[in-house]
Amino acid sequence: MGKTEISLLGEFGLIRRLTENIRLSNQSSIVGIGDDAAVLDYSGREVLMTTDLLLEGIHFDLTYFPLKHLGYKAAVINFSDIYAMNGQPKQITVSLGISKRFSVEDLEEFYEGLKLACEIYGVDIVGGDTSSSLTGLCISITCIGEGEKGKTVYRKGAKNTDLLCVSGDLGAAYMGLQLLEREKTVFKGEPDFNPDFAGKEYLLERQLKPEARKDILETLSREGIVPTSMIDISDGLASELLHICHESKVGCLLYEDRIPIDYQTAVMAEQFNMNVSTVALNGGEDYELLFTLPLELHEKIENMEGVHVIGYVCDESMGANLIARDGTEIKLQAQGWT
Ligand SMILES: [Mg+2]
Repeated sequence: MGKTEISLLGEFGLIRRLTENIRLSNQSSIVGIGDDAAVLDYSGREVLMTTDLLLEGIHFDLTYFPLKHLGYKAAVINFSDIYAMNGQPKQITVSLGISKRFSVEDLEEFYEGLKLACEIYGVDIVGGDTSSSLTGLCISITCIGEGEKGKTVYRKGAKNTDLLCVSGDLGAAYMGLQLLEREKTVFKGEPDFNPDFAGKEYLLERQLKPEARKDILETLSREGIVPTSMIDISDGLASELLHICHESKVGCLLYEDRIPIDYQTAVMAEQFNMNVSTVALNGGEDYELLFTLPLELHEKIENMEGVHVIGYVCDESMGANLIARDGTEIKLQAQGWT
């Protein structure tokens, strides 16, 4: 494919090219791209809003991150934050800082991933901005979502004796990142980055094409269940759990042997000489949901596919602790991002 320099189109031409076939599908989207501001109508509903900034070299590495995947992921991680409030993402605005290195086709690729994510999750692109940047690619996405009054779920609602639940499995995205970083070092200086990742597809997918757990909310809602508190796991289970404890003024007991870990994650952690529980606790970028539920829902939730009970909420005075496989109690510590 030919590479068209952005300067050939100019800023307005570029925006037109990237957004010309964008259609609005949500009732709350009244006017999208094309005026000074988008117009939304949430008539009586709660409006949720979240924003995320991604910088090249800090948050992503284009050596191994395809632009289409980056567009997809940049959108999905914002949707995940709206789902974590028990809401539905409806609109995004997309702002890009673009260096000379990027062509029109590069940005079209990015938009392809962005549009695919929006199509799958039912979200409209309603605006944005582009500017040239001196170095690298800078992506800022703001997502607006809809909440049902009285059903918005916060970090602050966990109660003593609640069940601690998590969706999916943890640590895979982090091991995917480790794998990509290792291969990048191996292939350094070679023109084609083309390593053999056979058997490790799941880890790569979790890193390069994460999904937001819309499906888990649908399952919970079908059962008439509203979590008492919820957060999505972007920085790692330990730090998210500490957020819930802090905001809810509770403590927790997390059982190491209950943390869901995929087989490939365990194999790769061993290869890297890493403790797989540490990977699951501190890895991050899983975009699974961590939530609490009243104890009486125990049986119902144990039988729910894709959800795992990993511990309990307790009194604040007991602190936040991990019960290790050998029964010893370890104080939970947040690592967060570096
Ligand atoms: Mg979040």
